[in-house]
Amino acid sequence: MSNADIPTVQHFIGGQRVAGEGERFADVFNPAEGAVSARVALASVKDVNAAVAAAKAALPSWSETAPLKRARVLFKFKALLDEHQDELARIITREHGKVFSDARGEVTRGIEIVEYACGAPNLLMGKHSDNIGGGIDNWHLRQPVGVCAGITPFNFPVMVPMWMFPIALACGNTFVLKPSERDPSASLLIADLLREAGLPDGVFNVVQGDKVAVDALLDHPDVEALSFVGSTPIAEYIYTEGTRRGKRVQALGGAKNHLVVMPDADLDQAVDALIGAAYGSAGERCMAISVAVAVGQVADRLVDALVPRVKALRVGPGVDDTSEMGPVVTAAHKAKIEGYIAQGVSAGATLLVDGRGLQVPGHEQGFFLGGTLFDHVTTEMTIYRDEIFGPVLAVVRVPDLASAIELINAHEFGNGVSCFTSDGGVARAFSRQVKIGMVGINVPIPVPMAWQSFGGWKRSLFGDHHAYGEEGIRFYTRFKSVMQRWPDSIGKGAEFTMPVAK
Ligand code: NAD
Repeated sequence: MSNADIPTVQHFIGGQRVAGEGERFADVFNPAEGAVSARVALASVKDVNAAVAAAKAALPSWSETAPLKRARVLFKFKALLDEHQDELARIITREHGKVFSDARGEVTRGIEIVEYACGAPNLLMGKHSDNIGGGIDNWHLRQPVGVCAGITPFNFPVMVPMWMFPIALACGNTFVLKPSERDPSASLLIADLLREAGLPDGVFNVVQGDKVAVDALLDHPDVEALSFVGSTPIAEYIYTEGTRRGKRVQALGGAKNHLVVMPDADLDQAVDALIGAAYGSAGERCMAISVAVAVGQVADRLVDALVPRVKALRVGPGVDDTSEMGPVVTAAHKAKIEGYIAQGVSAGATLLVDGRGLQVPGHEQGFFLGGTLFDHVTTEMTIYRDEIFGPVLAVVRVPDLASAIELINAHEFGNGVSCFTSDGGVARAFSRQVKIGMVGINVPIPVPMAWQSFGGWKRSLFGDHHAYGEEGIRFYTRFKSVMQRWPDSIGKGAEFTMPVAK
């Protein structure tokens, strides 16, 4: 592709694609080819201001639109998503690299949030207390927060934005999305489909960009709420800076997810689970398993079973149906993962399978890495402490369940965890004692359903609410209590005592 043929990914403001100031751009890669597939406009402060102004202008009318009418737009949007599912998945595979079936799965999980948000009239219902005393009734309602912004990571360019905006819009807010600059194109198709579904102009806007755009959203006095998903240092920054400016913020951060294999676990099932959860999407999932905790005597058997499976992983471009694992997102990310593997070796971990240096025939420039497996990993090693976000699995050996729980609870992250066992007592103790937001028992990636709510503990989430589901409705609405009586039940005279039920 010559430079002139490279498409530019634009912003979407006030119902149309716009170039913006067009002063800065970034390359977007096709990671399987290692080649630039597009360039993305990076918003200036002025571009962000235009998007927020469009969202503010659309707010009075959209927030006053009946929830049922808002839901009808979302119903149409859901039908359009079904129609365009493969197109969205192809964009994801092209810019992120994950295999096509996985990309389709991502879109499905996003659609499920839209389906949930279609229940807006029911979800927004308040509770009414008739006659609390003295002819007074008291009830509550949930009102929109205002202009909301979402800042999302590269690893789920469709699903993670859909954790946010369908709920925000259902609740009557307007929205500005700032997608990852590494895979920005899906956001524009989403914007087109929302428009086709009948969403009024300005209710949903997209600004492409980097830190400049994020800081402009943080600074903007008209942005009332910010949802962020990404790495922990940025999540903490967004939470601190956003709340300091009086905004409502939920900021989901990084992870280091453990899967405990008890001696009584079905070993074949545990190995299948580990292979899928550690290497699926090249380990670039916030719910990926990156640590296998082998309890007691199971360790040698587990490692012996894992090695041939990791070596046999079929690594190739996401568009190839036979690939199980695609490339990682950028050359820089590949180099970072390789650096961690080198650190693991020099720290003394046993490298059983080394994914470095893998060549995929016909895709020599692609950002491919093979599956990597370490044994005898200990807690002071960076390959244990840090989120690598690549196809690297570390085996840690512990003597018993109590040590496994202690190990997991001592880690700074608390997103997901899993335990493979056939003992109900172990399962119950594990789920109750582990300090982690999302727990799987014989389920490796326990991503909660759309109506359940997603989120981690500790440094995996900053804020009070988890994402989507009931927690999402709470985040995207302000709670208001109303108390009412009518003149025929009002007695004469001023009251100077604290009002109590009469
Ligand atoms: P990232 O933190 O680099 O980027 C996330 C967003 O922040 C992007 O939109 C990016 O443009 C913006 N950003 C980057 N640097 C910034 C800066 N200095 N100031 C302001 N904004 C900045 O994350 P990523 O690499 O795109 O995604 C991977 C990370 O996201 C991993 O840590 C992963 O665990 C995490 N993640 C977490 C969840 C979760 O639910 N907890 C889900 C998906 C991904």
